[in-house]
Amino acid sequence: MESLAQRLARPEILALEPFDIAAQANAAFGPDAIKLDANENPYPPLSDGPLVAGLNRYPEPQPERLTRALAALYGVDRESLVVTRGADDAIDVLVRAFCRPGEDAVAVPAPTFSAYAHFAKLQGARVVEVPLGAGFDFDAETYVAALGDVPGLKLAFICSPNNPTGNEVAPSQVLEVADALADTLIVLDEAYLDFSSMPSLAAEAAKRPNVVVLKTLSKAFGLAGARVGCAIGNPELIAIAARALPPYPLPSLSIEAAMAALAPSRRGIHEDRIARTIAERERLAPLLASSPIVRSARSGGGNFLFLEVEEPHALAQKLHALGIRVRFRPNAAPGGIRITVGTEAENAAVLAAFGVPAAAAPVRRAELVRDTKETKIAVAVDLDRAAPRRIETGVPFYDHMLDQVAAHGGFSLTLTCDGDLDIDAHHSVEDCAIALGSALSRALGERRGIGRFGFALPMDEAQAQVLIDLSGRPFSRFEGAFEASHIGAYPTEMTRHVFRSLADSMGAAIHVRVEGENDHHKTEACFKAFGRALRQAVRREGDADQLPSTKGVL
Ligand SMILES: *Cc1c(COP(=O)(O)O)cnc(C)c1O
Repeated sequence: MESLAQRLARPEILALEPFDIAAQANAAFGPDAIKLDANENPYPPLSDGPLVAGLNRYPEPQPERLTRALAALYGVDRESLVVTRGADDAIDVLVRAFCRPGEDAVAVPAPTFSAYAHFAKLQGARVVEVPLGAGFDFDAETYVAALGDVPGLKLAFICSPNNPTGNEVAPSQVLEVADALADTLIVLDEAYLDFSSMPSLAAEAAKRPNVVVLKTLSKAFGLAGARVGCAIGNPELIAIAARALPPYPLPSLSIEAAMAALAPSRRGIHEDRIARTIAERERLAPLLASSPIVRSARSGGGNFLFLEVEEPHALAQKLHALGIRVRFRPNAAPGGIRITVGTEAENAAVLAAFGVPAAAAPVRRAELVRDTKETKIAVAVDLDRAAPRRIETGVPFYDHMLDQVAAHGGFSLTLTCDGDLDIDAHHSVEDCAIALGSALSRALGERRGIGRFGFALPMDEAQAQVLIDLSGRPFSRFEGAFEASHIGAYPTEMTRHVFRSLADSMGAAIHVRVEGENDHHKTEACFKAFGRALRQAVRREGDADQLPSTKGVL
């Protein structure tokens, strides 16, 4: 018998396929499951502390600071952008603002992100599916030809890179559709564009009558749980769409989390994480393709891979048993599965599950943020990669010095500092040294399998000698003096402090002796020699499990 709810519900709701909430529930997996099913960013946000103060107040209906930060990020005016509760919400808002139930239609390529059709059906709009071409490539001409005569076509979606296949759509193709379908809004979903080499159409959308671009902080900025996205288009269109928003779409906590993620001091690490994800994606694709159970593996332009496999059912069971969550896409392509690119450790588990021998050594990487009233610092080091090196302390000479340390140390360093330079360079210089030392210490972990000791020497007329022991015991000695008080904005007296801070935060003995005539040379010699000494000390050597100490502890 029909229930009351069934009798009262709108037919469009009853016709909707329910989300398979149970299958996605955390309880279906153990707490340690490897989550590679939802294209989330595997790295937690770089924000800190409780953000609960002020929850007695309503948030701003359109949070001004966040709107401006997003507009700057995407290169548009604030009037061209409306902040939504994730890009999902933007899709819903557009459909509700523009589609009349029972009359209007929405076009989607197939396969693509399922939310477009879902929200359209919810609103009672017709969904017109246009199959993608061979290899899931999007072709503007095919799309336009299929949609030319559709009555009441209000929205045509294009997803680039496409979920779940990863295919990228060139901006020229999108604009070709926009020109040909002048009475339809073309909605370009750029949820994954940060992982792609395609340029964004955000700025173009702000100028055009019928292009809307969707953005989200869920994927690239690791904020899926905060629900922050936006729609970008010409100001009039955006103002009309915004009428369909609830009064206070974004919780204050989400606004704060987004502002923290977008802080200038965090930018370097976000870019570094994106670069790692892309590198992992490109590394994994051929490895997974070599698995006997995989027919094809496409890397595409997102933070995920799309695989076609021989026996999806058996594979699903196997991965489930191993506690690895991936997304099976039976409607997208026969045997299609989508796997999010995770951390190196998570990806190693995936390779093992597909029977691909994984590369050996564990990652020696650390990220940390250090925020005080005086400085806000984010730093990432990877001892086994030489790139990238990106250092922005706000003190150009010091940037150059720390770059020497990383270059000669042979490790990757991303360090950004937003400090109180209006007072002087002291806090920034010292705090960056502390943060760098802490990150190096963390990346070294238990300090197994390393050289431990390092030393190095000369530079032109100056000579610096730096001796290091990564002993776990801080000790610092500095012998040398400088004539000038500053090199650029960098106070020469800080060099002594920097090595002291490094010794303390790394847990290392660092002895520096420098002499010569020119302060610039002498300072540079210290940092270069330190980098060289560090290179030897952190180098993997001998047995990876062996502690380089007869005491058995460092
Ligand atoms: C994940 C995803 C979204 C949703 O983003 P939210 O901001 O988390 O709602 C939008 N579009 C595509 C193609 C996605 O894969």
